[in-house]
Amino acid sequence: MRVLRTIRNYFFYCGIEKDEYNAIKKDAYVSNFDVWRILHFLMAAVFGCLYVGSLFYDLMKANGALYMFAFAYSVIAIICFYILKKDSIAAQLLIYLSISMLFLFGCILSSKRPDIPGVTFIAFLLIMPMFMIDKPFFMAIELSVASTVYLLWSHTVKQHDAWVLDFGNVIPFTIIGIFLNVIANSLRIKEFVLTREINIQKDTDELTGLKNKGAMTREINQFLTDSKADKALLFVIDIDRFKSINDTYGHDAGDDAICQLGSVLGGMFTKDEIVGRFGGDEFIVFIKNADDPDVAVKIASDIVKGVSEKVVLTNSGQKISLSIGIAIYHGNETNYSALFKKADIALYEAKADKENRYHLYKEN
Ligand code: GH3
Ligand code: MG
Repeated sequence: MRVLRTIRNYFFYCGIEKDEYNAIKKDAYVSNFDVWRILHFLMAAVFGCLYVGSLFYDLMKANGALYMFAFAYSVIAIICFYILKKDSIAAQLLIYLSISMLFLFGCILSSKRPDIPGVTFIAFLLIMPMFMIDKPFFMAIELSVASTVYLLWSHTVKQHDAWVLDFGNVIPFTIIGIFLNVIANSLRIKEFVLTREINIQKDTDELTGLKNKGAMTREINQFLTDSKADKALLFVIDIDRFKSINDTYGHDAGDDAICQLGSVLGGMFTKDEIVGRFGGDEFIVFIKNADDPDVAVKIASDIVKGVSEKVVLTNSGQKISLSIGIAIYHGNETNYSALFKKADIALYEAKADKENRYHLYKEN
């Protein structure tokens, strides 16, 4: 059973677990896209040169139309690479189409020399699998179909001895190609997994598992610089008298309160909102595409209520209270710190206010 599971994982998920593979699939697609876009420029250059060569050298003349076709295909594919989205299925299908085209090119070129085995085709069997990160199962199908087509084709056009040699070469080299693909993919896919883990760690607050300051600042700045985005709400949330909670109940109880607050906020905002811990006892909630002050006040009131009900200090059973500063984005600020300053001013107003735990920033 374990052996079967390992084989399945290698053929379908490049040697890692299904969930892990699905998490980094898009990164692999983007990498394929970047690699094959460059390869297509190379293909266009090589086939273009071969075509020019065919105009001058008799030996290459017979292949002139084939080079021209391959050059035209490469140019059209390059245009498609600039239209398609990097991580789209269409882009991956285009790459498989190009691989098929190269195999076809190898087939036709080999069939023009009926007396010798198809060296170009066999070379492609070894080269192509090294440049495609996908489920190795797909490459196994691609190589098997290409080899079958090639052998059937060469059987009709080649001399018997050359075909027998082809047969003897193509079968083992198809198998080697499939294994090269499995090995290359399983090695490269681990780099993607590692990069993803590092990126998650870099962007995550250790204590709460929410986004950290760096990740939030980056994402909010991205939103603010988007010309189409002209509405948002920023909430800066700070625990009241947290120093005395630490001093009275201990640092661990303080840490636990931060964790509980993080999970309450994380549970309240599960859609497109940006939620994170800014540092210390300060949290941020950023809600996109909303600018109604009444909505903002309602959200702040819900946060205060939710936290006062759900966050309980360990051992003492005490509740905590919060202060919230709110700033509304109307498309004026181009960076996070300008908007944050406004929410921070509102936060200090809320801290000073005995009645209300939240304040909305108002321009003078
Ligand atoms: P205020 O009502 O004005 O907010 O008073 P405060 O005591 O909460 O003051 P402030 O927000 O400035 O204090 C934050 C404190 O949080 C300071 C620091 O000792 C404590 N702190 C910072 N990071 C951590 C942490 O990771 N764990 C714990 N337990 N405490 C932390
Ligand atoms: Mg505080």
